[in-house]
Amino acid sequence: MITFKNLGLIDPIQKAVEELGYENPTPIQQESIPQVLSGKDLLGCAQTGTGKTAAFAIPILQLLENGKNKNNKKSIKALIVTPTRELAIQIDESFAEYGKHLSLKHAVIFGGVKQTPQVGRLRNGVDILVATPGRLLDLIGQNIISLRDIEYFVLDEADRMLDMGFIHDIKKLLKILPPKRQSLFFSATMPKPIQELANSILNQPVKVEVTPESTTAETIQQAIYYVDKVNKIKLLHHLLQEEIKESVLVFTRTKYGADKLVRALGKLKVTAAAIHGNKTQNARQNALNNFKNKKIKVLVATDIAARGIDIDLLKYVVNFEIPNIPETYVHRIGRGGRAGAEGIAISLCDTDEKSYVKDIEKTIGMKIPKAEKNPFPMENFELSPPKQKQPRPKRTEKNKTAKKSNFKHFRKGKNT
Ligand code: AMP
Repeated sequence: MITFKNLGLIDPIQKAVEELGYENPTPIQQESIPQVLSGKDLLGCAQTGTGKTAAFAIPILQLLENGKNKNNKKSIKALIVTPTRELAIQIDESFAEYGKHLSLKHAVIFGGVKQTPQVGRLRNGVDILVATPGRLLDLIGQNIISLRDIEYFVLDEADRMLDMGFIHDIKKLLKILPPKRQSLFFSATMPKPIQELANSILNQPVKVEVTPESTTAETIQQAIYYVDKVNKIKLLHHLLQEEIKESVLVFTRTKYGADKLVRALGKLKVTAAAIHGNKTQNARQNALNNFKNKKIKVLVATDIAARGIDIDLLKYVVNFEIPNIPETYVHRIGRGGRAGAEGIAISLCDTDEKSYVKDIEKTIGMKIPKAEKNPFPMENFELSPPKQKQPRPKRTEKNKTAKKSNFKHFRKGKNT
């Protein structure tokens, strides 16, 4: 069994890790930490929940600490770029935790809030900067931030950067970064554009891959309820009363859907809060804190907002709406059962979503087990045809009759 001691960590970091109660390094930490410490570039295929933050934060802290004597400059030496504000805050907190017994300075910047307090902190000089792309470029443009002395660059959640349309910002950033640097690149999935981006950033990287997408599901108990759309809220309410006794993260596809669900739950006297991109940073942070402190049981989130939120030991995840991208399902259910804890992922699927479930099952290589007891089973489970909006054909004499005969055929089929 590999321990943190085996990884050659300096005492102050070792101590911080012990104080956090980490017993052993996770697989990505075991593989990445020694490679990063030896100066290699890294291509990490891993999602949140695998311990990937420590996999880059710990060796970067150690490298900076060891290089302190030769580089005393008051300039940013490590830059971590991540797509969302929540992730940025969490990564910064991780640097604080792992670097607790070191004197390295760190700061976090993100958009949607006034820049003044962030700039104040930067003016004091920081070694490590965690940033979202927009605010970073903004402050570079204002000559408040210089990347001249960057030695370590981490691009986190690269696939999400692409989804969120940050790719041009990243390309701009790459032109400014010093070419001589150590780079680490993390992405949960590696589609072609992401591989190309990685190739343009990394220099002979070591590849580290943990829990490939299709096998993540193994550690999580999954169940699916086939239910009519109108009954979804009733079913969720029933589950919250009968089965889900603790905190639960509920996913919707849209921001509107998230707010609507919070309102519907409110009417049923279930306190819930939503986090999504339309909420202010403060509202999102409050909702998250209330959820972490167990003041609210249900946190409703859209995929982008939830991405990377670090909630320890979350057991339940509910897909109130099924995602149309199979990888999103894997990300979502990966939010439950963190750091080895048991996780349960429950999906509520209506007629229109059945085809999404088929795609998901193909991706994860297994059938999602149907829930044993379903108090609101879908009516006409087999009959329901997928609704597809098609342009209305022009009503000519010919297709008027065709329509009639189709109708007859359907009636006949149904009655017999
Ligand atoms: P991450 O994938 O970086 O978001 O980390 C997921 C969660 O696992 C965080 O809550 C970390 O605090 C926790 N964690 C990271 N490394 C370890 C470890 N070696 N042992 C136990 N928990 C860990």
